[in-house]
Amino acid sequence: MPITTDVVIIGAGPSGLFQVFELGLLDIRAHVVDALPQAGGQCSELYPDKPIYDIPAFPVIGAQELVDRLLEQIQPFKPQFHLKQTVTALERQDNGRFRLTTSAGTEFDTAVVVLAAGLGPFQPRRLRAKGAEPWQERCIHYRITEPERLAGKDIIILGGGDSALDWTLELHDKVKSLVLVHRRVEYRAQPASVTRMKALVGKSPLREFHGMVREVVERDGQFLGLKVADSEGEMHLLEADEAFVFWGLSPNLGPIAEWGLDIEKRQVRVNTETFETSEPGIFAVGDINTYPGKKKLILSGFHEAALAAFGIQKRLHPERKVHLQYTTTSPVMHKRLGLDTES
Ligand code: FAD
Repeated sequence: MPITTDVVIIGAGPSGLFQVFELGLLDIRAHVVDALPQAGGQCSELYPDKPIYDIPAFPVIGAQELVDRLLEQIQPFKPQFHLKQTVTALERQDNGRFRLTTSAGTEFDTAVVVLAAGLGPFQPRRLRAKGAEPWQERCIHYRITEPERLAGKDIIILGGGDSALDWTLELHDKVKSLVLVHRRVEYRAQPASVTRMKALVGKSPLREFHGMVREVVERDGQFLGLKVADSEGEMHLLEADEAFVFWGLSPNLGPIAEWGLDIEKRQVRVNTETFETSEPGIFAVGDINTYPGKKKLILSGFHEAALAAFGIQKRLHPERKVHLQYTTTSPVMHKRLGLDTES
C-alpha cells in the first residue's frame, strides 16, 4: 500500500529541511526522501566541518551544526524521513495526485511534490582512465569512510579542491605514503590548506605530482597504481594500494530529468511567486531550481521554501484564506510549534 500524504519532499539538504518547517507553520506535514544515509545534503556530505559565514544571524556556523539546528527546528512537525533511497519514478494519476516510487520500493500517493534535490543524487566525477573499470569501488574510491583502515598503506589522492587537500592534510602522517595528484599547478582549495600541504612535502611521506591520469596499472590481478602523464607528456608510474578521487560532483538530475519538467541547463525552471514548476503540483526549491538572478546559496533556498509553502497551501486548500502570522505573537503558530505560551 502506498503511503498517502499531502507532500513529499525529495531531498533532505538545507532547503528540504527548511521546507518542512515552513510547511509545518501552515499546518502541513511532509515526508522527506533522500538518497544519502543522513540528512543535510551538501553540507553534511561534502563539508561538515567547514565554517559558513553567510547564514543570517550566525557570524559563523559549522555546516553540520547548521544541519543539526535545522533538524532540531523542524522537530515539532515530526517529518518522516526515508533515507538511503532515491526517488526513481514519479507519475501523475488520473485524479491529479502523484505516485512516487523509490529505489527501496517505498511508494507514495501525494498531492504535492517538492523537489529540493540540489545537484541531483550525489554522483562523484569518476576516473575514466584506461583499465579503471574493474577497480572501481575496490581500489579506486570516491569517499573515505574509515580513515583508520588506511594506516600503513600507500595511497594516491586525486584532486585540487578542498576535499582533496583536507584529506591529504588529515592522512599524510597516518599512511605509509601519499601522493597528491592534481592536473594543474594551481589549486582550487583554500590557500591556507595549500600552504600547509606544501610545507609538509618532503618532511613527511607526502609527495605532490602534477599530471593527468592515463591508465590504471595492475600486475597478476593486483592493483599496482596509476600511470600519470606530466606536462611534457612523459609517463610516470605512481605505485599505490588504493586511489581516492576527489574531483567534485557531476551535476546530474538523474530520474528528475525524465519527468517532463521545463529544464534549463540541468535546473528546473520555476515561477518565483510560488516556486511551482511547469507541472502544477510540483514545486522546486534550493540549488535545483533556476530563475532570473538565481544564486545557489543556502539562504536563497530558505527564502524559496517560505514562498513555496504558501503556494503549496493554496494548491492543497484553495478555499482557505491565508493570513501571514508572526511566530512571535500568533497563538496559532505557537500551538503548531508545540509551545506552551498560555501560562
Ligand atoms: P543539497 O544540499 O544539494 O541537497 C539535495 C539533496 O537531495 C541531497 O542530499 C541528495 O542526496 C538529494 N537527492 C537528489 N536527488 C534525489 C533523488 N532523486 N532521490 C532522493 N534524494 C535525492 N552555500 C552558502 O550559502 N554558503 C556557503 O558558505 C557555502 N559553502 C559551500 C562550500 C562547499 C564546499 C560546497 C560544495 C557548497 C557550499 N555552499 C554554500 C552551497 C550550499 O551547500 C548549497 O547551496 C546547498 O547545500 C543547497 O541546498 P539544497 O538543499 O538545495 O541541496
